[in-house]
Amino acid sequence: MKSNTFLLRSLIGAALLTSAGVAQAPLAVAQKDSSKGKTPAKRPFIVCIDPGHPSEISSGANAHGLSENRLNWQVAVLLMRRMNTRRITWITTKSSENQKVTNKQRADRANAVGADLMIRLHCDVGGGSGFSWYYPDRSGRHGGVTGPPRSVQIASRAAAETLNAAMIPVLRGRLKSNPIKTDASTYVGGKHGGVLIGSIHSLVPTALIEMCFINNKRDAKFIDSVEGQEKMADALEAGIVAWKARVGK
Ligand SMILES: [Zn+2]
Repeated sequence: MKSNTFLLRSLIGAALLTSAGVAQAPLAVAQKDSSKGKTPAKRPFIVCIDPGHPSEISSGANAHGLSENRLNWQVAVLLMRRMNTRRITWITTKSSENQKVTNKQRADRANAVGADLMIRLHCDVGGGSGFSWYYPDRSGRHGGVTGPPRSVQIASRAAAETLNAAMIPVLRGRLKSNPIKTDASTYVGGKHGGVLIGSIHSLVPTALIEMCFINNKRDAKFIDSVEGQEKMADALEAGIVAWKARVGK
């Protein structure tokens, strides 16, 4: 994993530069146009990549000597690199692997740039295997906020379906797909009216993926390999590209 670590370090540097650059640009364009009373320029498609954990809820799962937090970050960095290659504008919620960011702060980051999609990368532990997408299908309440709005619920479902469908052929034979679920089926969601905290505060389409079950031997072997992580990033890239096309950008 030594060479991989080195590669990741170089990528993070490049990625963060890009992230900082794009995070402000879309807002600046919108403000300038409205002050002159002109029709705002068409904004680029923006994806917010959220490597899950550590947050106010959890520092992430561990199994088979694997750290969910690390795996989420490693896949996220590979995905950022792919977005750069495709010239798709992206932002992220973390600037280092162990940076603690609350779920509300993560949502706020995507909201601030009016992201077209917020994808939240996680790995599960439990009795299953394969990848599973989750989306909010109702409003919950957290920190004095009720959300997400109905329009975000509808768009989030469409995003989860689009991403899931695009990922299946890429991961076929390597990692199985599970039926799409709602936040209500998650433990944390269950405590906040059936909605994850990050979803409650989201004003943009948001979907969370449990990329695999790291306590499942086969899944763990897949996601711990450079090849498996690259494959997962390929699949997520295909999903983002499909969503970009669906929203017409
Ligand atoms: Zn997680």
